[in-house]
Amino acid sequence: MARELMKVRNLKKYFPVEKGLFKKKAGVVHAVDHVSFDIYEGETLAVVGESGCGKSTLGRTLLRIVEATEGEAFFEGKDIFKLTNHEMRELRKKMQIIFQDPFASLNPRMKVGDIIAEPLVTHESMERAARDERVAELMELVGLRKAYGTRYPHMFSGGQRQRIGIARALALNPKFVVCDEPVSALDVSIQSQIINLLSRLQEQKKLTYLFISHDLHVVRYLSDRTCVMFLGKIMEIGSTNEVYNRPLHPYTKFLIAASPVPDPHARQKEKLILEGDIPSPLNPPSGCRFHTRCPYVQSICKSQEPVLQQVEGREVACHFPLV
Ligand code: SF4
Repeated sequence: MARELMKVRNLKKYFPVEKGLFKKKAGVVHAVDHVSFDIYEGETLAVVGESGCGKSTLGRTLLRIVEATEGEAFFEGKDIFKLTNHEMRELRKKMQIIFQDPFASLNPRMKVGDIIAEPLVTHESMERAARDERVAELMELVGLRKAYGTRYPHMFSGGQRQRIGIARALALNPKFVVCDEPVSALDVSIQSQIINLLSRLQEQKKLTYLFISHDLHVVRYLSDRTCVMFLGKIMEIGSTNEVYNRPLHPYTKFLIAASPVPDPHARQKEKLILEGDIPSPLNPPSGCRFHTRCPYVQSICKSQEPVLQQVEGREVACHFPLV
């Protein structure tokens, strides 16, 4: 059994919303709401859900790019929300992020070599020569020529830019990497190259990934476990194979059915048509947050919130799981 690397308990991230000239409080967005799960060393835990479900906020809160509203997150036994700035700075070496849009996350005025070297300049006191050597090593690791180090980001394709982002994320030899939709801005033909690169690097460097995606097909071959989120809550979490092949939560079933199938000859899964729009996270529905769209809704779903419970070896938050 793999060791626990991260333990998240009752994590909440709420964003206050203001309106008008006098910035009157208009409500609170429940981006991440009472979320608990574990991440094991060396695994890829995929977090999937439609846009606005809180998955990116979850990843950023774990790295303290945004501060949590409430809850605990233990990394190697330390509650990261209680660390001082100095302690957090040290921990950041072990926890990195790869962003969705490689172009937006790379400074267009910096040479690629300097972009990759940036974390080394900030966190390590290295001689220039040692730093250059490390940058060359990182470029080779992600499949970029060393000579490209003097070029600027706009001179690269989307896939190459994502390789630059990956090299930068790995500069400090992290243990844990949040991959925030790292392939969704790329052409389908390039997506598989980046996914293969991430898989190879995980094996080589013994990395643990939190892989955020809106597409279950993308995470299917890469992740060990999958966590499905809807409106800031976990709906289902379990082994990717089981979640994908036999979803127990109606929302998971919908996500799989709604996701484009990469192989046009593949048999379509049973369709599940949902009515209505995603409810507002400013004013989430009572009871089960999915009840306004769920074809299996019963009266209890509207008043009583289902808690995550063990069903057939995974956790599901539904009064009537699809067993
Ligand atoms: Fe559907 Fe009820 Fe389950 Fe919610 S609790 S997903 S409304 S069946």
